[in-house]
Amino acid sequence: MARVTLDNVTKRYNDVVAVDDMNLEIEDGEFICLVGPSGCGKSTTMETVAGLTKPTSGTIHIGDTEVTNLPPKDRGVAMVFQNIALFPHMDVYDNISFGLRLRDFDTDEIDRRVEEAAEVVQLQGMLDRMPDELSGGQQQRVAIARAIVREPAVFLMDEPLANLDAKLRVHMRTELQRLHKQLDTTIIYVTHDQAEAMTMSDRIAVVNDGQLQQIDPPLVCYNEPANLFVAGFIGSPSMNFVEGELTTDGLETEYFDLEFDVDDLDAAPGDTVTMGIRPEDIYPATQAESLATASSTVDATSDVLEPMGDEIFVYLALDDANEETMSDEGASRASNQLLMSVDPDSRIEADDAVSVAFDRSKLHLFDTASGEAITHGVEAEPSAKRASATAEADSGGQHE
Ligand code: ADP
Repeated sequence: MARVTLDNVTKRYNDVVAVDDMNLEIEDGEFICLVGPSGCGKSTTMETVAGLTKPTSGTIHIGDTEVTNLPPKDRGVAMVFQNIALFPHMDVYDNISFGLRLRDFDTDEIDRRVEEAAEVVQLQGMLDRMPDELSGGQQQRVAIARAIVREPAVFLMDEPLANLDAKLRVHMRTELQRLHKQLDTTIIYVTHDQAEAMTMSDRIAVVNDGQLQQIDPPLVCYNEPANLFVAGFIGSPSMNFVEGELTTDGLETEYFDLEFDVDDLDAAPGDTVTMGIRPEDIYPATQAESLATASSTVDATSDVLEPMGDEIFVYLALDDANEETMSDEGASRASNQLLMSVDPDSRIEADDAVSVAFDRSKLHLFDTASGEAITHGVEAEPSAKRASATAEADSGGQHE
């Protein structure tokens, strides 16, 4: 177990800045996912920790030791890669113990470690099988066991599940969490798959263009994204965005106006902002009536419906924007489209006029130019607050 610290780590390849002034403090025993789109610098960051790449500048510590210039073998790390690379002519036992035999460990110690590791990854009874007698998932478990027997201070995993089929990937996610609990070791895990990062990590480090965007527990990244990039990257289907202008009493967009209290926001009327709302925070107006934090309503027309079983995704076209062609990929929604998630028993059909409301407490605002978050959740407009206070006073304040 060890804490891993990156201080101002930059890695350049000629003109490409693969990692740009990265600062990370990974706690002892923490499971951290480095997540971001392909080419954002995740693997390079991990390679600097592994010692496979030397940073152009900056320092790396594992525990109290500065390892920036140490060779990989002296860092106490073990890596698991996407490409499993087992020796095809060796059985499982020999594949797992290969590194230990190379280092001249004695036979009893090798036996003990291999048996323990095989138990952790549930490969007992398969130690004499050859790699081609194993499924993809079992092969990946051999690779993980090979890392475990090294008893590393830090596990580095680079997309270890990327080559497995979807069902096995989901299964292996649970296995890796169990492994982490059992070994209680620091794990740095690279993935482009936000769902993997959400489900497994203690904290997610979201990276874009070589720069750290946010490092926080999964639900904080989901509920309080630091900027537009994190908001759009974390969550599937992704957050809806609509650009508009802040006014003295809310937001004005091309398609609708919303009223809310702008007084306490760190932005001024006239500012160009981007509103963000997740599909599950949009409600048909009839349902929103029972929601205390519902916004005013917005008119739209349902376009495409995607029944998922436990929910239905409804693509809404705002205003008279129906004639626009729908993108076939939800993630690249056009600006006049909103994706709403509703109950499976909802009676919405294609081409219905649907009035919707947003959960104000889940409405995000971002500064369009900088992308930085302004707020997560807005308050009712002061006049609405006054009206509801007056109504409450009129009814003798008996609402509760
Ligand atoms: P990710 O793991 O997020 O997909 P990488 O860390 O592999 O991203 O790459 C980050 C950037 O650095 C990319 O633009 C990539 O092309 C570049 N890069 C990575 N390794 C090398 C290398 N050995 N030589 C030149 N450019 C590289």
